[in-house]
Amino acid sequence: MARLGPGLAALAICLATPAYADTLIDNVQGQTIGADGHVERFKAMLMDDAGVVKALIHEGEKTPKKGFQYRVDGKGRIMLPGLIDAHVHVMSTGFAALTLDLSETNSLGEALEKIAAYAKAHPDRPWLIGRGWNQERWKLGRFPTAAELDSVVSDRPVWLERADGHAGWGNTAALKAGGVTAATQNPSGGEVIRLADGSPAGVLVDNASNIVAAKVPPPTARDYDAAFALAQRDFYRRGLTAVADMGTEMADWQAFRRAGDANTLYVRIMAYGSGIDSTVQIGGPGPSPWLYADRLRLNGVKLYMDGALGSRGAWLKAPYHDKPDTRGLPRLTQTQLGNLMSRAAMDNFQIAVHAIGDEANAVLLGAMEDLSQTYKGDRRWRIEHAQVIDPADWPIAERVAKSVGLIASMQPVHQTSDRLMAEARLGPERLAGAYAWASAKAHGAVLAFGSDSPVELPDPWTGFAAAISRVDEGGQPAGGWQPQERVGRETALAGYTADAAYAGFAEKHFGRLAPGLRADFIFVDTDPMTATPEAIRKTKVLETWVGGGKVWDTATPEGGAAGAEPVKK
Ligand SMILES: [Zn+2]
Repeated sequence: MARLGPGLAALAICLATPAYADTLIDNVQGQTIGADGHVERFKAMLMDDAGVVKALIHEGEKTPKKGFQYRVDGKGRIMLPGLIDAHVHVMSTGFAALTLDLSETNSLGEALEKIAAYAKAHPDRPWLIGRGWNQERWKLGRFPTAAELDSVVSDRPVWLERADGHAGWGNTAALKAGGVTAATQNPSGGEVIRLADGSPAGVLVDNASNIVAAKVPPPTARDYDAAFALAQRDFYRRGLTAVADMGTEMADWQAFRRAGDANTLYVRIMAYGSGIDSTVQIGGPGPSPWLYADRLRLNGVKLYMDGALGSRGAWLKAPYHDKPDTRGLPRLTQTQLGNLMSRAAMDNFQIAVHAIGDEANAVLLGAMEDLSQTYKGDRRWRIEHAQVIDPADWPIAERVAKSVGLIASMQPVHQTSDRLMAEARLGPERLAGAYAWASAKAHGAVLAFGSDSPVELPDPWTGFAAAISRVDEGGQPAGGWQPQERVGRETALAGYTADAAYAGFAEKHFGRLAPGLRADFIFVDTDPMTATPEAIRKTKVLETWVGGGKVWDTATPEGGAAGAEPVKK
């Protein structure tokens, strides 16, 4: 139901007669993508006891005065549908948040203080794991020692990875766990840093660090649950009410299920199994049903066609501009790709394939076109990233889009973060097809926007600003990078809401505010339809509601979901 004339609107209101347990949210500047794909504005919303939208009340229509049990005063604030991140790694986001981060410390003393506080905050964790230290940044002139770590934590192993990942620093308990002694030989490609008497000093370089790293216990179910809670909090406090998890392992799925069973699953998850094996292990004969009142579903499978541009693992048609002896490489042969895609399509698992380089995208599109002869219907095959497309391949994309549906799952913030690197790798000729959001849309793909968290922060506002401007937070480059690939605000909003839901077969459940859909919404302090990109980046999410229950309120941030209303089934 889009913007109805007054007569029809009156009818709609009367069909949605308020019932006793309904909630009216009024006095809002509401905006959502409407059924026609355009922005629809409203001033109030009625939702039922199950957290489902019953009606939107538009300007010029009468707001019901009675019949509902609860009323929420929107205080004139901007109300949007809950945003959706179409490409995250949920558990990696959570584990990154669970790990001690020393990357901002400026001295050994500051790092030790942080380590001590972290140990105190996590008394029951058997190992303390962290990363990010750098003795250069500390101006220490030497590596830190086990004894220094012992001075703050000696009761259990502490293992901290250096900022570049090429060394580890352990306390005595960690060295002991790894069996590292004066007698330990340096492994090839590694070095045990030693004291004058030959005993290990605390830092193990390169291959030597594996001696202790191999002893770090794998995360327990408790660790998974703690990490998941942190990831989820990071999502909903930024205004995300749903995410697509790109590469779900069985242990991840079990953590999501435990949260669902405990009624603490707040953010909706559209899961894509990590390869065919995890997908079949989780889903069995096909995608799972929607579970926990539309909070969790296994949609399909995530596959990898190639690597990344930064490490020159992306598969290009022509050599890298800055390394002419390579054009990257595929991670699957064409036959393997075809077989895996068939295996998934046969059982109606949705297919999502990581493809960065133009050759990877060309081969993937070719495989999609071939398979569309066999597997017909509404498939919505997804290209994850679709980062560099040879404009010559757009006609194939168009044909795939028409026959089975094509999703371009892209991350606007990658464009601003990667710009200089992409220019170096690709040279000037290939930039026209890089991060080509507007072209993808023009050729029939549905744009679903995301962040690839934890690669980037799961912050939809940074992405929204980049999507409409193609400039970074410093306003660079002036006028936008390849500005013809900018998208309009309406497209950006759809990419983070309705179209991201569509990309996960969720459009009948959430993604817009409309009668019959879940009441997932946010209050924000900035209007993304009118504010400057700089202002949009700084958007404050004031409240986040999922399924008619509040899960985040900036006024009580520490409460987080603890102060949430019960999840409505
Ligand atoms: Zn990813």
